[in-house]
Amino acid sequence: MNRANPTPATKDTESRTPYSNEEIYGRIQKAVLEHRLAPGTKLIEERLAEVSGVSRTKIREVLNKLAHEGLVTLVPNRGAFIASPSVEQARDVFVTRRMIEPEMARLLSQSATPPQVRALRKHVKLESDARKRDDRPAIIRLSGEFHVLIADMVGNEILLRMMRELAPLTCLVITLYDKPNAPACPHHEHSDLIDAIAAHDGARAAECMLEHLQHIEATLNFEVVKEASPDIEAIFS
Ligand SMILES: [Zn+2]
Repeated sequence: MNRANPTPATKDTESRTPYSNEEIYGRIQKAVLEHRLAPGTKLIEERLAEVSGVSRTKIREVLNKLAHEGLVTLVPNRGAFIASPSVEQARDVFVTRRMIEPEMARLLSQSATPPQVRALRKHVKLESDARKRDDRPAIIRLSGEFHVLIADMVGNEILLRMMRELAPLTCLVITLYDKPNAPACPHHEHSDLIDAIAAHDGARAAECMLEHLQHIEATLNFEVVKEASPDIEAIFS
């Protein structure tokens, strides 16, 4: 994951295999998820092509895909920027999550298998390890992925696609609007939710999820908008 600590084989950028479209897409998405790319950052095609070693055509394809998912905004004659959700859009993200995720938790609590419950607990362990290291980018990314994991376990492709779009958007919203020192997802709330799912208590699972989303939203401050700090290198670091 980290090219800041290159192995001898990847140290020489000249000899490195060029990134695939999927890798570039994944890296930009991850940089957004981990808050290493601030909303409003301009994504310069030439620069991305240079750093990644792939053609501008491929970079454009990746940027179009990201734009389709709402993570990137394409401005005619100006280029591509990391999306910067407005207060209204930020609220819409949470309204939508409150509509679908309690039901998603209820559904999983009906069908959850012991291996799925174990996988959820393992994920929470990763979150708690990140917390111990005080690794905020990882905490935020893992918190978002927890919710995508639940959608994946429900086994509904459309729901999964929606959650895959909503999780990065939520990260952008948190980057823009979180109060200083606000945590991502409160840790024990994920564990409480898993307990309800493991007990096949659908009503409780839905309630846990709703309260959890309300808590995240309550840590946001829609009156302050932070300045974006452009850092294209952050994608490949
Ligand atoms: Zn959460």
